Amino acid sequence: MIKPRKMKFYGLKDIDDIPQLKLLTDEERFSIKVVSNVLPFRVNNYVVEDLIDWNNIPDDPIYQLTFMQKEMLTDAQFNKMADVLKKSDASPEEVKQTAEQIRLELNPHPAGQRLYNVPKIDDEPVPGVQHKYRETVLVFPSSGQTCHAYCTFCFRWAQFVGMTDLKFATDESKRFQEYLQNQTDVTDVLFTGGDPMIMSAKNLAVYIEPLLEPEFDHIQNIRIGTKSVAYWPYKFVTDRDSDDTLRLFEKIVKSGKHLAIMGHYNHWIELSTDIAQEAISKIRDTGAQIRTQSPLIKHVNNDPAIWARMWKDQLSLGLIPYYFFVERNTGAEDYFSIPLYRAYEIYREAIRGLSGLCRTVRGPSMSALPGKVAVEGIAEIKGEKVFVLTMLQGRNPDWVKRPFFAKYDENAKWLNDLKPAFGEEKFFYKDELDMIIKAKHGQMFFDVLSEENFITEASEDWDG
Ligand SMILES: *Cc1c(COP(=O)(O)O)cnc(C)c1O
Repeated sequence: MIKPRKMKFYGLKDIDDIPQLKLLTDEERFSIKVVSNVLPFRVNNYVVEDLIDWNNIPDDPIYQLTFMQKEMLTDAQFNKMADVLKKSDASPEEVKQTAEQIRLELNPHPAGQRLYNVPKIDDEPVPGVQHKYRETVLVFPSSGQTCHAYCTFCFRWAQFVGMTDLKFATDESKRFQEYLQNQTDVTDVLFTGGDPMIMSAKNLAVYIEPLLEPEFDHIQNIRIGTKSVAYWPYKFVTDRDSDDTLRLFEKIVKSGKHLAIMGHYNHWIELSTDIAQEAISKIRDTGAQIRTQSPLIKHVNNDPAIWARMWKDQLSLGLIPYYFFVERNTGAEDYFSIPLYRAYEIYREAIRGLSGLCRTVRGPSMSALPGKVAVEGIAEIKGEKVFVLTMLQGRNPDWVKRPFFAKYDENAKWLNDLKPAFGEEKFFYKDELDMIIKAKHGQMFFDVLSEENFITEASEDWDG
């Protein structure tokens, strides 16, 4: 029998109050504080008490996933903040300015990126909506822009330290609905965040229930991207609004739409507790499906055995493995990222021993400017070693699943590190992509991107 649990958040100010951290030396705790002044830190009592193995610090994967490590900053960045914090007369303003300076060095993708792919009605942007691929529209509800705990690798970290104006998100207004109503090519709406499941059932219903009306018949699939299944499964079992949440899921399913909970699981440990399994069972009882996704992250899941176990456990709990992502180039990326060749090996080693039912997972996939680019293989063709690439999703749907080739490079970690193979000048989609960007965002925006070598380089918001 699972007892209700009261959620307790720990943030930067509470680092000395987390009992388990008393295991550390003062210096180690100070290091956590230094980094947490730059990158956002939040954890909760469930993660601390039930998911982290405190006998395995600092290597424990869930500890790495939620607690800042000294090496997430360069020595220079770390020392800069440490020096300020050690000063007896440092003002909050000085700490803040130092943090901001360091953050700008960490490729924060601030507000500008948020305006990317934002559609317009009558020349006015529709806030809180991103529409990149024909079939799927992303919706960012304004009250779902935080999480039950923050992942140290999170590519949306900048929004949690206030670098992104939350006005990019949408309120319950009719504007996003108006947009969706007129987009009859759209079959999927993906609610994302932060984490939409941080919202009360009542609030969530305000966003979702209108979509169940006949004028949205073209919307067949509702997706909710969430980490709550891993970080706060009580949401679906014993929280005050658990029942209302599950009834809302049922209502969506009964309306004839498919409800897909896109669960972010980074490690099989997150599936191993009674409460995590109970939450899964409750969600599945509503008729919703749970699909899963995660990036490959050094220090957390950099091992084919971890992925094999995770996907196997997911299958036996009735979850559907969906995307295997490449960690993107922002935040503490040097700490977390893994070269593409290795990502491909890990994927292959992990799935080749598993049931075909697990092989629904696709990747390693990079969510980049032209689309979701997957490394399909490494081959030698007429004496040249190459990466074989395809797009799982393309800005132009016609790009999907057309093989293309990049020179093999052991150090490449992202699409912008790759060069076309066989002496080609550019990848096949380049000219069309330039045209699409110009048409969508104008010449000026295009020039800015090109100047910053962004066209091939940009990583973008993704969700499953
Ligand atoms: C991944 C992604 C989607 C969803 O793509 P699917 O392949 O249908 O899961 C939608 N929008 C953006 C911006 C994405 O990155």
